[in-house]
Amino acid sequence: MKHTALVWFRSDLRVSDNPALHRAAKTGLPVIGVFAPCIKQWQQHDWGANKINYVLRQVACLADDLEKRNIPLLKLTAEDFAQVPDVLVKLVKKHKVSAVYFNDELEINEQARDEKVQKQLEAMDVEVVRCHDQTVILPNAIKTKTDDFYKVYTPYRKAWEAELDKGEYLTLLPKPKKQSALDIQSENWQAIVEKHPTSQAVIDLWPAGEAAAHKQLQAFCGDGLLTYQDQRDFPAIEGTSRLSASLACGVLSAKQCYAAGLQAKDGASPKEQTQISTWLSELIWREFYRHVLVGFPRVCRNQPFKTATRKIPWSDNEEHFKAWCDGRTGFPIVDAAMRQLNETGWMHNRLRMIVAMFLTKDLLIDWRWGERYFMNQLVDGDFASNNGGWQWAASTGTDAVPYFRIFNPTSQSTRFDARGDFLRQYLPELAEIGSKDIHDPPPLVRSSCDYPLPIVDHAKARDKTLATFKNL
Ligand SMILES: Cc1cc2nc3c(=O)[nH]c(=O)nc-3n(C[C@H](O)[C@H](O)[C@H](O)COP(=O)(O)OP(=O)(O)OC[C@H]3O[C@@H](n4cnc5c(N)ncnc54)[C@H](O)[C@@H]3O)c2cc1C
Repeated sequence: MKHTALVWFRSDLRVSDNPALHRAAKTGLPVIGVFAPCIKQWQQHDWGANKINYVLRQVACLADDLEKRNIPLLKLTAEDFAQVPDVLVKLVKKHKVSAVYFNDELEINEQARDEKVQKQLEAMDVEVVRCHDQTVILPNAIKTKTDDFYKVYTPYRKAWEAELDKGEYLTLLPKPKKQSALDIQSENWQAIVEKHPTSQAVIDLWPAGEAAAHKQLQAFCGDGLLTYQDQRDFPAIEGTSRLSASLACGVLSAKQCYAAGLQAKDGASPKEQTQISTWLSELIWREFYRHVLVGFPRVCRNQPFKTATRKIPWSDNEEHFKAWCDGRTGFPIVDAAMRQLNETGWMHNRLRMIVAMFLTKDLLIDWRWGERYFMNQLVDGDFASNNGGWQWAASTGTDAVPYFRIFNPTSQSTRFDARGDFLRQYLPELAEIGSKDIHDPPPLVRSSCDYPLPIVDHAKARDKTLATFKNL
């Protein structure tokens, strides 16, 4: 049997613009693919049914796309990362693999797994080729003048944009060509998907497949992108791309998204160009949080970015936490947002900020509780962005504004859902209430609708939080 090249897919579930796959195909060796559904490890990383099901559905679609190119996608039977090196070595021997290709993952457990794999394979004279695809620009390629990692977004963005202008960062890699058929069977991935179900509502909302993701990207670039800045903060409007789940598991690459946005600028009016730039800067937020993860690996170890905030005496009020999770806090905007998360596996960005700030600043509950709950519900759960978003809201992270940024949930509600359309969509018990009252219904109205009174007084909670931070 001839030697083969093995591509190990992880959070890069696509055939186009995939550096590891591209390089393996260029060797001219027969290419085989492998994926390890490490369910136990994923659960330890707080992935819930929505994300597990979504990723496995994407893997099944990837297997179909690879099959069209005669590349089989095998399964690595490993429940957790610790089992991966040994089973991978067995597979490498069985298929006479001479080189293993993969795109790097940045988190510390993933890095430790890959170091072990690399060591064992190199000891057997198997070449290991590590590629980069997680961001447009390598996280450690952008540094301050004193060679430090950036701690604040805006100067990072400026440096990022300057770096982009210098290089060929947006060259997209083609899909590999069809190779000769191999005598190796792909795994039955559909059967694995069926063992890890989630609600039909979530499956319908988040279709799988690279073709579907590209269709969505193109549709957004031709329409929503041109009004993005004006509409992105209003949860009742579909004003954002909803591409986060595709990006989180690598069905789309960051490069593909950034390049598509930049291309849409051609021929756009100056006003439209501003709208597009705002979307591009959101993609740079994603790059920034990966930069933070690499530069400050303590954030991967459950530690706050700002070390002084370790001393915050967080509340362990389980009742408050449950009310928050269930969408029963008595603050309609918080409750509607949490129910959107629970029902759809996704939440609008403005609402993520509101509920995260409410949990950490109004209830003074540890951001890690919220981070874990989000990860457990989200289809787009992504360690760097989730951790970054939570720490930003809790003022333990990279927010340039100090701890006294505390949202008033009711003002946020009147500002970003003035007519209450979003509230009515997720809080059927408030459906009949008019726009004036719906953001903070009077006590009698609440009791007639079986809607709870607010679990805290926002003004008092705010004072307590300010005092807590001030005393650090
Ligand atoms: C507390 C909190 C938790 C979050 N958890 C996650 C998470 O687990 N996974 C995740 O992908 N995003 C997370 N975000 C960021 C953001 O809310 C989502 O990326 C966004 O809502 C996804 O919707 P969209 O695809 O329509 O975004 P768009 O507005 O269309 O933005 C395009 C893309 O840019 C990236 N992006 C946008 N905003 C941010 C941001 N603030 N930080 C990092 N990347 C961003 C996403 O990849 C997104 O798909 C979190 C934000 C907060 C405040």
